[in-house]
Amino acid sequence: SHTNTIRTSPATAETNLHRIQALVKKQREFFSSGHTLDLAFRKERLRELQHTIQEHEQDLMDAMYADFHKPEMEAFSTEIGFVELELKLVLKNLQKWAKPKRVKESLLNFPSRSYIHSDPFGVALIIGPWNYPFQLLLNPLIGAMAAGNCAIVKPSELTPTTSAVVARMIRQHFDESYIATVEGGAPTTQHLLQQRFDYIFFTGSTQVGKIVMKAAAEHLTPVTLELGGKSPAIVAEDADLGLAARRIAWGKFLNAGQTCIAPDYLLAQESIKEELLQLISQCIRDFYGEDPRQSPDFARIVNDRHFNRLSGFMSEGKVRTGGVTDAASRYIAPTLLDRVTWQHPIMQEEIFGPILPVLSFQHLDEAIGMVQQREKPLALYFFTNDERKKEQVLKYTSFGGGCINDTISHIINPNLPFGGVGQSGMGSYHGQSSFELFSQQKSVLHRGTWLDLPLRYPPYGNRLPML
Ligand code: NAD
Repeated sequence: SHTNTIRTSPATAETNLHRIQALVKKQREFFSSGHTLDLAFRKERLRELQHTIQEHEQDLMDAMYADFHKPEMEAFSTEIGFVELELKLVLKNLQKWAKPKRVKESLLNFPSRSYIHSDPFGVALIIGPWNYPFQLLLNPLIGAMAAGNCAIVKPSELTPTTSAVVARMIRQHFDESYIATVEGGAPTTQHLLQQRFDYIFFTGSTQVGKIVMKAAAEHLTPVTLELGGKSPAIVAEDADLGLAARRIAWGKFLNAGQTCIAPDYLLAQESIKEELLQLISQCIRDFYGEDPRQSPDFARIVNDRHFNRLSGFMSEGKVRTGGVTDAASRYIAPTLLDRVTWQHPIMQEEIFGPILPVLSFQHLDEAIGMVQQREKPLALYFFTNDERKKEQVLKYTSFGGGCINDTISHIINPNLPFGGVGQSGMGSYHGQSSFELFSQQKSVLHRGTWLDLPLRYPPYGNRLPML
């Protein structure tokens, strides 16, 4: 059947709502049947997902190239391969993670045994963004499936080719009463959000995150929000500057800056700022050549709206490298922007493109102060070789996750829960934390029956309280 792909046009909005209602109902019924409680069932379906992804590797890379020129190498390493590693890890450990965990007893309950069971929530809704259109939809789905939930995934409408491939893969391998794709934009998502789900996992902007949380509150549905923000890269004067330049340039221009954990802006210590800027400019030439437009390794901006928004930033400071744009191909050159201030619009919103503005500081305290005064970022990167400075930055700044002397790479370790804090999100996932996120911890006490002290029952008389 092809019914689990639902497309939106205004004329069909009403039917869409009805179809979405029917779909959620079907999933609820299937969940109630108890099939997903069986670990063998979950593993079999995860293995099926693994095979279909392997079969579709080229289709997926082509789709992401068609959507915004994502280089094959990046599509593989940051999306397909990344998801394949997650699947491997889950299949290897699911049995262990899913086992009820015995915990210590309270003497007051003697004799007893206590366990924490990991129960699926039920029917989950997973809403994805466009920038990593495969990984950010599939990794949460793997967590939801591993934990025994049914799920509806809603890919971004801004990457329609990838969305269609994902929908086809899911349709071919899963019954819609278990896993289904609903395609469409904001109106379709609104229809989904009107339904009662047992869990909602959202990746996207802070602004839409608020819409999702409001809708979830109506049903008291728990949410995970993976949002964005302005993630700083701070470079202290004692850092290895060549290395800092390479790792910052890589993290910033990967996916043409359209990465939630990309370094948004650079905070460089005044004494080394000039040298660092020269090194970053050199990295840009080394990575992408004199004309990055010709490079096969540099992505394009996803749509015209974002292209226009980003082009507008170019006039806000002094372009040190780059600055070239081409509307027809939605190309924005990797750009280094000097002489900006916090008052410039580029410093007041998440950039989400290949433009790196630079600000400087005299003392590390100042850099820390700048971060503290703003919304808590999703990521923070700090370059130094000084242990005391590392401690100082880690102690006094709050952020979702990050690296010392690198960018992006913390996301690669599945043992590090990935998520934001404050305006950059709530909840975290990857590896075992995904399994835990999509599981309810059901606490159960098994009380022994051979002893039943009369102390707790009334009449209490003059007995001393037990606690
Ligand atoms: P977005 O918030 O515009 O869209 C995300 C999803 O919400 C899409 O599926 C879209 O269809 C839907 N949506 C959009 N408007 C809606 C509305 N009014 N009502 C209901 N649903 C709506 O985000 P985006 O542009 O796709 O992604 C970029 C943002 O996502 C950036 O802020 C980035 O930092 C963030 N992001 C965060 C992470 C993370 O892991 N924390 C990862 C990637 C992207």
